[in-house]
Amino acid sequence: MLHNKTTQQTSKSSEQNLLRRVLRVTCAAALTSVMLPLFIFNAVLSIATFRAPLKKQKWLDIGGEVVELYVWQAGVFKSSAMLFNITAGDIHFVGTPIIWGETTVPNVRRFKSPCAKAGVFDCLQLHSLTGLVAGDIPSLLASQNEQGAVKDLAMVLKILFCRCVYKDGGEKTAQSAVFGIPFDNANMEDAVNWVCASHTEANYCQVGYFLNANSINLAAKQQELRAVLTQSNKNFVDGSGMRLAARHAGINLADNINGTDMLPVLCRKAVETGGSFFLLGAKDDIAQKAGDALETQFPGLDIRGTHHGYFKDDNDIIEKINNSGATILLVALGSPRQEVWLAKNRHRLNCRCALAVGGLLDFFSGSIPRAPLWMRELGLEWIWRLMQEPKAKFSRYVIGNPVFLFRVYVLKQSIRGL
Ligand code: UDP
Repeated sequence: MLHNKTTQQTSKSSEQNLLRRVLRVTCAAALTSVMLPLFIFNAVLSIATFRAPLKKQKWLDIGGEVVELYVWQAGVFKSSAMLFNITAGDIHFVGTPIIWGETTVPNVRRFKSPCAKAGVFDCLQLHSLTGLVAGDIPSLLASQNEQGAVKDLAMVLKILFCRCVYKDGGEKTAQSAVFGIPFDNANMEDAVNWVCASHTEANYCQVGYFLNANSINLAAKQQELRAVLTQSNKNFVDGSGMRLAARHAGINLADNINGTDMLPVLCRKAVETGGSFFLLGAKDDIAQKAGDALETQFPGLDIRGTHHGYFKDDNDIIEKINNSGATILLVALGSPRQEVWLAKNRHRLNCRCALAVGGLLDFFSGSIPRAPLWMRELGLEWIWRLMQEPKAKFSRYVIGNPVFLFRVYVLKQSIRGL
């Protein structure tokens, strides 16, 4: 029985490999024939200048292996000669990431990718275009290696789409401002380290917000929210709209940082460092359910307390949070209530850090499903959220998104300020 199952799996995977090979060779041949006039031009130019048409150039893949690729010695689009490597099977269209710049081998060795050859396209490239943080590098590469030809093709198309829409446009400075609001151009690891840090020098609870297109639209109308956002300890930037706005302001964003992508990384870090949580917000027992789910998912996680987000008396809630002894408070009351509530009450909170996290508890309790990975990879999670709650989210997205783009491209508010 087991033997039959193993044989079936082996034959399925060799079918997949064959399909991938056929697709690779067919696409490489089709591209070669389209580019034939350019190849002839480059070859003739090389020969006319007394050089061999092709030479080999050395690169490293992310596992530290040397990858030798053809380049034209003269002409234009010189690296297009790597199509010959693809046709010959030296590299794949989709494979282990090649590092196209300076690197040191010891640093990359730890990401050694199992078995696959180097590829021109890869999932890390795709995720870096939208700043998506969707898991650790070895497991992302392992699942890329197992995917079939159709998913390979889809990945190439997604990368081409994201390159057109979100391509890098400026500097990657650590401290920046968009719409006149300062933010930290952080990667996820640094952001989580900040949340878990002891902040012993601070007198009261440190506060972090996630800026997105909706909070910017609200801040444009509400002076109070605008002031609150500029007075936080840290702001992080979330969403494809903000990526476009930052690019327009000449800022190249690092990771896309929102509460929902941050929480798994934060939970792991909290288990390691002894951090504990209080979850405040959402309807009925959603916070309790989210807490239970998190404790199951992250053994050793310390959830000290939960409370729904439809309360009237701040004093009771603050007493409950302080009595719990939690070091990290997640406030999920929706914008602008959560930001304003935190700004008003932070000096009475004993926890070390508090984050305003929007609909996060709904996702982690399982009451609202998170968008599928392909939508998040394309920066289109908002379409999913609109589909989940069309009435509640209509004005935020259907009206709010065009208004936001108007602010960016016509009013140039991401550069000038709100
Ligand atoms: N919410 C709350 N109290 C309120 C208003 C809203 O607890 O007075 C909760 C609401 O139930 C939801 C969250 O705040 O769980 C807001 O989610 P939303 O989708 O608006 O947040 P986003 O992630 O889009 O910022």
